[in-house]
Amino acid sequence: MRLIIEARLVDGETDPVEEGDGALAVIERTDLSLAELGLTLAEGRSLLAKVQTELISQQVQRWLAGQSHCESCGAAFRHKDSRSTVLRTVYGKVTVKSPRVWSCACQGTARTEQRVVHPLSKALTRRVTPELEYLQAKWAVHLPYRQATNMLKEVLPLDKGISFSSIRHRILDTGKQSTLI
Ligand SMILES: [Zn+2]
Repeated sequence: MRLIIEARLVDGETDPVEEGDGALAVIERTDLSLAELGLTLAEGRSLLAKVQTELISQQVQRWLAGQSHCESCGAAFRHKDSRSTVLRTVYGKVTVKSPRVWSCACQGTARTEQRVVHPLSKALTRRVTPELEYLQAKWAVHLPYRQATNMLKEVLPLDKGISFSSIRHRILDTGKQSTLI
């Protein structure tokens, strides 16, 4: 028996759902026994990491499609190049392609040169989801940093998405912010 889990992208709520071959995961159970009942933690983590990657890349692509023209004059931005941006989430690291464009001529004067603009970096300054930051901060209060890291890694698909130093930096950051408030 195979359980195939697919990702399908539908634009509007009323758009018809079409069959696709976007299989995210195939869960195989070869025998008919109940020995391997349900999803294992590893299967669940792997599945969630794939869903997260798919969802974030689609969201980012669509958001970027709306950033292709200057808000002031409507001219299309000129593409310079693309970089990779790594976003850290509760379901692991997701790497997305992040284009860089030249700022619009209408924004400069004869003396100022055109600048390189990186729209995604501007929009996602922290590159970590608030939920992951919250979990890291919460567990680092109760456990030594390394144990907190190991605990989160065991439950979430964070194999490469979390580090000892990143938790410490978050805590220091959170501490600084709360003293400012
Ligand atoms: Zn413009």
